[in-house]
Amino acid sequence: MRFPFFKMKKRSKKNPESENQKPKIIILFGPPGSGKGTQAELLAEKFNLYHWETSRIIGKIIEEARRGESIKVQGEKYYFEKEKQLRREGKLWDPPFVAHLIKEKLNELAKDKKGIVLAGSPRTIYEGERVVPLLKRLYGVKNIKVVLVKLSERESLWRNSHRKECELMRHSILYTKETAKLTKCPFDGSKLDIRKDDTSETIKVRLREYRRQTYPVVALFKKQGLKIKNINGEQSVADVFKDILRAVK
Ligand SMILES: [Zn+2]
Repeated sequence: MRFPFFKMKKRSKKNPESENQKPKIIILFGPPGSGKGTQAELLAEKFNLYHWETSRIIGKIIEEARRGESIKVQGEKYYFEKEKQLRREGKLWDPPFVAHLIKEKLNELAKDKKGIVLAGSPRTIYEGERVVPLLKRLYGVKNIKVVLVKLSERESLWRNSHRKECELMRHSILYTKETAKLTKCPFDGSKLDIRKDDTSETIKVRLREYRRQTYPVVALFKKQGLKIKNINGEQSVADVFKDILRAVK
């Protein structure tokens, strides 16, 4: 059989095609206020990734649940109503409840061969122990990049108490030098307001939950063989983005 006239694509030894074809997973990690949501939005746009934000995805599922609706996970019943209340108090949702909904969604995305950027997820060791092996199996360990955006607690508190949210899509806009004077959402142009659930008490609870429950997941990533890149989160959005791009190459 004769070869067609067009040139055959050369295979690079560094990046075998099978690895290239697999979609990318980027896990952005950092305290509340580190700008994960905004950065995830930018990454999603640049690499055509599904922007995974647990609070928005699970929050939406909870909002859409019928009155009295529940799901069963390992024999235990979880009521959507109760989970909604936990969030109102600034606490994390029950880990088995969240892990179950996350696994369902991840399987769906992998089936569609969609790359994902995860902002602030997994949020607990419990979730991580279930989600990380699943991601490794679905996407391959080499295609998973973890970026830890570092931010002091003081800065986190300040940024969160000045955070805004848009009317249309609930985009969360972090307080930074660039966004201080914004009145309209940079993504869709709708009106921006101070986020309702951001009282200083709920922010403090959220920070404590991050320190106690979420930060330990970084150790789990290491144990699972994932490489972690540290980024300084106390820079402008553009500079943080530049550092992230370098880190996920
Ligand atoms: Zn918006």
